Amino acid sequence: MMTQEIVILGAGYAGVQVAKRLAKQYKNDDSISITLIDRHSYHTMMTGLHEVAADRVKPDAIQYDLRKLFNRTKVNLVTDTVTDIDHKQQIVVTDDGEYPFDYLVIGMGSEPDDLGIPGVREHTLSLWSKEDAIKLKHHIEETVKKASVVHDKKTRQKMLTFAVCGSGFTGVELVGELLEWKNRLAYDHKISPESITLYIIERDPSILKFLDPKDSTKAETYLLKKGVKILKESPIVEVTGDEIHLESGEVIPTCTPIWAGGIKANNFAKSFNMNKGPSGRIEVNQYLESTSHEHVYVAGDLAYFEEKPNQPNPRNAESAKQMGKTIAKNITASINETKKIAHQHSNRGAIVSIGSRYGVANLMGFHLSGWFAMVFKHLMNLFYLLSIGSGYYTFKYVEREFFYTTDKRNIFRDFFNRYGNALWAVPLRIYLGLFWLVEGASKLWGESVWTEATSTLSNVGLLFRGLGEDSWLISSTVQMDTSWLQFTFLPSNEMAMFVQRMMIFVEIGFGLFLILGLLTSLVSTLSALLILGFAFTQTLEWDQLWALPASIALLNGAGHTAGLDYWFVPFIQRLLGQWWYGKEKAIYKDK
Ligand SMILES: Cc1cc2nc3c(=O)[nH]c(=O)nc-3n(C[C@H](O)[C@H](O)[C@H](O)COP(=O)(O)OP(=O)(O)OC[C@H]3O[C@@H](n4cnc5c(N)ncnc54)[C@H](O)[C@@H]3O)c2cc1C
Repeated sequence: MMTQEIVILGAGYAGVQVAKRLAKQYKNDDSISITLIDRHSYHTMMTGLHEVAADRVKPDAIQYDLRKLFNRTKVNLVTDTVTDIDHKQQIVVTDDGEYPFDYLVIGMGSEPDDLGIPGVREHTLSLWSKEDAIKLKHHIEETVKKASVVHDKKTRQKMLTFAVCGSGFTGVELVGELLEWKNRLAYDHKISPESITLYIIERDPSILKFLDPKDSTKAETYLLKKGVKILKESPIVEVTGDEIHLESGEVIPTCTPIWAGGIKANNFAKSFNMNKGPSGRIEVNQYLESTSHEHVYVAGDLAYFEEKPNQPNPRNAESAKQMGKTIAKNITASINETKKIAHQHSNRGAIVSIGSRYGVANLMGFHLSGWFAMVFKHLMNLFYLLSIGSGYYTFKYVEREFFYTTDKRNIFRDFFNRYGNALWAVPLRIYLGLFWLVEGASKLWGESVWTEATSTLSNVGLLFRGLGEDSWLISSTVQMDTSWLQFTFLPSNEMAMFVQRMMIFVEIGFGLFLILGLLTSLVSTLSALLILGFAFTQTLEWDQLWALPASIALLNGAGHTAGLDYWFVPFIQRLLGQWWYGKEKAIYKDK
């Protein structure tokens, strides 16, 4: 049987979307092979780069390993840099190999465009990859550190001026994060936050011009209120090592010019010999197929498609995802020899974050600002992760964005912060463990023996004389109060006897696990559920109710301190992770 090769270049928003959809479509079809090639072994959540650059989240928060995203699918992963496409032979050429294709999808994104302005390429920093974000973060940290001990006022001011050139998503979201980070930077280096100046320099009369004027004005007002200097209608004519020159003649002294002024097609696409549109983007027809090459589709920032005259596809994540969906459908149509569909962009609006707790949004005509806009931004990101089928990264996103941020850089401020000392919960963990142990032991020995044996120290020996007649283990009658339970869940006496015996081991097990600090979160959850169960079945004493909040309190990872979870949890996570997702690698070379 002839295999049809679908090769996808770039694991960005567009590429991942196509690969996911086709993998699902052809799950059980051995005649279709899908290969996804990216220069990285991970998918970069570009829309979170500013959070890394300004130290809100760690770099791995926006780096999603491709093996984890495509576990248990038929997608072959290749980590390699694409250098050329031989259209005649239908082969993709990479640094380290060649890949034949029947259908090709190019989703290699874009890169910063210096717009021909002298000095931009040489002297500015950009924010278009994880590496850029890390570099920018280190540069800012280092510059503030050095500036804090500089005596000359002018030099110091220049070092503490951060100028973002451009006011699209990248520029404004970055400034928003820097606004929050500057307080921490100032505190750490013992300078005043006011000594750090942030600029947005924009060529056009308004910032965020892809938004409704109403929303962009709100964003501007917020930024101005927070002290950001916004220079509009200020085209940049030159950037030098420590100055930005504007057309008006004004000069902004800064050691950190950050370029977010424009993007163009990925440079590698230059050599692809395909019909091009403006900014080097590859021109596609309504099916998102190259206007010069059949069976070659282009999606995302790299594609140039005018759905209506002079209205090209927007270069944003939402548009890339939508194009990915259309391409997956059209490749399927092509394979099945059915009718392809014309791409229709659906404008669902945009959400721009300005720091962690403020944003502006236009969601299909519904305008939001402030905290609610940020809630929607998180929901949108979570929805994206769920849509690409990544439960793992959805969980990680929640963990990193809501539980592991500092300095209140979180929509919930630091109320949910997990950075804390679990040491103080250890006595509670042991106490709750003892509670369950005593509960279980009294059922095992029977109330009569247990009460007597534990009444004084000298009676403890009674425990070695055997179990009492009322022991839940050997008693032939049901000891527990089952009036309510029996009616609902335990239809027969045998079932009630079985549950009664099991309860002994469950309670003793809870006790031992909690005392040892083993699987503490899991056991605490079960403990809370059991207490709730007792409460609902009216078998809980009032003086036992404390065990419910205590169980909930122990969900804070109390087993990691003075407990076996310190070793066991990372071990089991590694083991299960490798079994389910496979081993993470820096280079994937499937097949
Ligand atoms: C800071 C910032 C904030 C943003 N915020 C938003 C936002 O809030 N909302 C929004 O909608 N958009 C936002 N954007 C824009 C959005 O990120 C892009 O429009 C989107 O990433 C484009 O998707 P894509 O699939 O075309 O390309 P990308 O996501 O850029 O993916 C391209 C992929 O191709 C790979 N690649 C490139 N060259 C090669 C090669 N030669 N060989 C192999 N692989 C290669 C790359 O490694 C990458 O994985 C933001 C962008 C930035 C930088």
